[in-house]
Amino acid sequence: MLFELPEPYLTLRAEARALADSVRDHAAEADERDDIDPRMRAALAGSGLAALTVPGRFGGRDERVDSLAITVVREQLAATSAHLDSLFVMQGIGSHAIGVGGTAAVRQRWLGPIGRVEAIAALALTEPDVGSDLRAITTTLTRDGDELVIDGRKSFITNAGDADVYTVLVRDGDGYSLVLVPATTPGLAVEKPYQIIAPHVLGDVVLDRVRVPADHLVGAAGEGFRPVLDTLATFRVSVAGAAVGLAEAALREAVRHTTSREQFGTPLARLGPVPAMLATCWTEIEMARALTYRAAAAAAHDPREGLHLASLAKVGATEAAGRVVDRCVQVMGRFGLVRGSVIERLYREARPMRVYEGSTEVLLDSLAKQLVRRFTEV
Ligand SMILES: Cc1cc2nc3c(=O)[nH]c(=O)nc-3n(C[C@H](O)[C@H](O)[C@H](O)COP(=O)(O)OP(=O)(O)OC[C@H]3O[C@@H](n4cnc5c(N)ncnc54)[C@H](O)[C@@H]3O)c2cc1C
Repeated sequence: MLFELPEPYLTLRAEARALADSVRDHAAEADERDDIDPRMRAALAGSGLAALTVPGRFGGRDERVDSLAITVVREQLAATSAHLDSLFVMQGIGSHAIGVGGTAAVRQRWLGPIGRVEAIAALALTEPDVGSDLRAITTTLTRDGDELVIDGRKSFITNAGDADVYTVLVRDGDGYSLVLVPATTPGLAVEKPYQIIAPHVLGDVVLDRVRVPADHLVGAAGEGFRPVLDTLATFRVSVAGAAVGLAEAALREAVRHTTSREQFGTPLARLGPVPAMLATCWTEIEMARALTYRAAAAAAHDPREGLHLASLAKVGATEAAGRVVDRCVQVMGRFGLVRGSVIERLYREARPMRVYEGSTEVLLDSLAKQLVRRFTEV
């Protein structure tokens, strides 16, 4: 028996590779923008692949969002363009809670357009003073008649400025709620006070007495973490897929360079520790891919049940990608350091993956607690 992806996913992989190939020449330029690149957006819309990010009832490809499908697509897209990869997955991360807990009217209004890339989605959890410890958020929700009133500031929000709709985590009395806020709502403003080392469309979302109708609550009042957890359980493993794709792209570059360049009369790929460094990269990539597919298949079956595997895969694959891309830069010598080169871009793109959607340390801390419980059960 071969441990290979089953057929529908092989076809999907080919579709995603075709999309990535179609934007390859434009990837470097798009990755440097701080807003969504229209050509990337058109290519994603034209591919139909964004339909994977919403449920079947609202124009999605599958009855419910399939973590393995998302993972397989991200592996291909991240190898070519971080911009396109982020654009694809954020349609799901930004809208999943709506599918899980949105009212019928809100689902009907947003999910179809998001799956067709006619609307752009965002998820706003982080605040200037709050990252990993989301229970410390200070953005508030109050009620005024039939309206919900939101006050606060969300920070480092992907797609800020381009999003048509934000799903915002707020403090709601003693609990936490999730509220959908259309970008055109009066009182919502976007600021872009920073740029990070990796290409990413990011910004802060300022919410100044923003008012939305009561049916914009996503999920039950006071239980906003439930749809957030559903979102993470479905999409976290796909970061591992993106990391595997990125690492393999880096290794390809390193092999190309070290087989074509000679020093001391020998190709670099056969010199000193270089061959072992390349083979170590390959080993780490294959190990990461095996765990990633296993975790993605588990998440596709039952996202909550598979969450520990998704966390293991996210930590394992993003940390491996960091090591791989660093070695690849090293074996390419000064050519690995040239700004704008493929390898330099991959080096920068790999770094944030270990921070967002659960940093390595936060996930390891949670995994360690689960490990002790599991291994001490009788
Ligand atoms: C490219 C990018 C895109 C992003 N997009 C979004 C988005 O769309 N929406 C959104 O809401 N947020 C987004 N974020 C924010 C992201 O979710 C946070 O960066 C992340 O939650 C970590 O929070 P922090 O950066 O404030 O780090 P902190 O929480 O301040 O942590 C700093 C360091 O301390 C460690 N640490 C923290 N707590 C613990 C602990 N309990 N145990 C051990 N170590 C700990 C962390 O691992 C980290 O190394 C994005 C971030 C990046 C980089």
